[in-house]
Amino acid sequence: MAVRLYVLDTGLIESADFAMWSPSAEAGEHREMSVRSYLIVHPRGMVLWDTGIDDAIAAHSEGRRIADSIVFRVPRTLRSQLAEIGVAPCDVGQVVLSHLHVDHVGNVGLFPAASVLMQRAEYEAGYGPSPERFTLDPDAYAALDRGRIETVDGDHDLFGDGTVVLKTLPGHTPGHQGMLVRLRESGSVLLAGDVAYTARDYAEGAVREANVDLEQSRKSIEAAQRIERDLGATVWLHHDLDAQRIIRTAPSFYD
Ligand SMILES: [Zn+2]
Repeated sequence: MAVRLYVLDTGLIESADFAMWSPSAEAGEHREMSVRSYLIVHPRGMVLWDTGIDDAIAAHSEGRRIADSIVFRVPRTLRSQLAEIGVAPCDVGQVVLSHLHVDHVGNVGLFPAASVLMQRAEYEAGYGPSPERFTLDPDAYAALDRGRIETVDGDHDLFGDGTVVLKTLPGHTPGHQGMLVRLRESGSVLLAGDVAYTARDYAEGAVREANVDLEQSRKSIEAAQRIERDLGATVWLHHDLDAQRIIRTAPSFYD
């Protein structure tokens, strides 16, 4: 069986001030951002990349205001989308986190059989003496069982066959990472996480001011661009709703 990549719609972020995220936005610009998780079905196991916004928010049709200018909404739960493709939470062997922000770890406690992979730099920031210095809030990942965490240091080939490879892309947070998935029919896709919030910022190398390390962030955009150029990979930005609209979500898949 070939590797399959399912795109899961794990919420929406309404931002009343998109300039918080994108240096090319006008102050006070209203924008909706997509949130995604991805299920990779490999012959040797299932990998879930990020766990989205907390499914519990789906009970609130107006969403939940989490800050003055930010509302989270969950029109469809992660659990229901997995069920639709016949996947139970206990089928997922590995959860991999791009980083520890609240919109990426929402349902991280849902997978009882999974180990949880992250970069060591993210782990040390998130569980060190001052996570807030790195824009991390331990309440966001309180449901994560620390005993299940496994860390990696730098790029890491999950199955040893080059099909699913973690790519370190730090700067947004200390251990922010992407995932390169090589598919037989669809070619290579780089799940680039939060390296940039719009295709324009990505193309221009424009870095969000609130990132933890701006120089690293710039280098990570360049690293993603190199992967795009050298491997002919398609780059998917997590929160770019305009770009995500044309990407097929589950139950469709890419293989
Ligand atoms: Zn994010």
